[in-house]
Amino acid sequence: MAVNLLEFDLEGLAAFCDQLGEKRFRAVQLFKWVHQKGVSNFDDMTDLAKSLRDKLNFAACVQGLKVTTQTISSDGTIKWLFDVGHGNAIETVFIPEDDRGTLCVSSQVGCAVACRFCSTGHQGFSRNLTTAEIVSQLWFAENFLRQRFDRKDRVISNVVMMGMGEPLQNYAALIPALRVMLDDNGYSLSRRRVTVSTSGVVPMMDRLGLDCAVALAVSLHAPNDDLRDNLVPLNRKYPIDEMLSACDRYLSHAPRDFITFEYCMLDGVNDQVSHARELVKLVSSRNKGLNWCKFNLIPFNPFPASGLLRSSASQVQIFSRILIDAGIVTTIRKTRGDDIEAACGQLAGDVRDRTRVGQRIAIQRTVQLRPDTKIGATPGEA
Ligand code: SAH
Ligand code: SF4
Repeated sequence: MAVNLLEFDLEGLAAFCDQLGEKRFRAVQLFKWVHQKGVSNFDDMTDLAKSLRDKLNFAACVQGLKVTTQTISSDGTIKWLFDVGHGNAIETVFIPEDDRGTLCVSSQVGCAVACRFCSTGHQGFSRNLTTAEIVSQLWFAENFLRQRFDRKDRVISNVVMMGMGEPLQNYAALIPALRVMLDDNGYSLSRRRVTVSTSGVVPMMDRLGLDCAVALAVSLHAPNDDLRDNLVPLNRKYPIDEMLSACDRYLSHAPRDFITFEYCMLDGVNDQVSHARELVKLVSSRNKGLNWCKFNLIPFNPFPASGLLRSSASQVQIFSRILIDAGIVTTIRKTRGDDIEAACGQLAGDVRDRTRVGQRIAIQRTVQLRPDTKIGATPGEA
């Protein structure tokens, strides 16, 4: 079977080329064709020798994921649903802002951590994505967006591993994918602009610091173990104190001098004044002052099965004021794309629920793409 080159970081591709009897610089050329120019047909890679193209046509392929639907929000957010086989789907979201374009990438089909407030978690765990499936999300989105906006330069400036799944529970596939994102011959994203978000898989936080120290976000959601045990079941294995120690260690490798804590605001559950005060105590007890962390308060995006409600805007303000007054840099995340269920925690890869997709067609520009649709053609306008 042909080997999918999207599976390789540059070292992996060099090893593959070596097996074909080709020098390393050929791997660099090939890597640039695939990731910088978005070319998948070896015969279009004009500076490769005919003999190498023949070998590649025989032994390799560049195979992206099949897009099932594409939905564009009124705020410009784009959500893609990719078919990953056996009735499974994953979601990828592009969030345009004035000064950047962020791609939210999935790492697993479903998630085993099963956080109470997360739609992906409620779906259960199906399987890990391969490196090729993680990279494909960026490969597809970057090429699609360049053509859509008629741009030659890069459109995606930031990647956040905040889609479906717990990236640090798919470590072996994650690391080569991150390396492709960072590689100067790949997407050349800076380590500060690639963020891994984790619910706190402590041993893998340590390994990430050593293997590929990108920006780190940790989903905290509670100021004490009792509450966090209940919201993020992984806390029973890696309680808050251990997780914060791992954050301390990570800081010596991190590209930024802070860790971002994400805190999903749940009405009456974790959003009270007493919780905010407890949080301030918690992070100030780490002997580092308060500038080693930032808080990102995320308004909860409700879904029926959770039985939870979003905190009121005024409660979020009161909560953030307490953190800010204590000297903690705190932002309230603007929800983006919630009209297309592309907001945090709403990603459920709902490939089978055609009724919901059907309803969306009426109000948004959702289109079904045929597997052979050219990514250059703007769906719905073709
Ligand atoms: N598994 C990783 C990354 C994916 S979740 C993690 O948990 O960090 C990405 C972010 O979305 C996390 O901060 C998560 O807590 C948040 N999130 C999950 N469900 C949400 C929901 N329903 N509303 C708002 N944020 C949610
Ligand atoms: Fe998994 Fe993150 Fe959702 Fe928790 S919040 S279930 S870790 S994807």
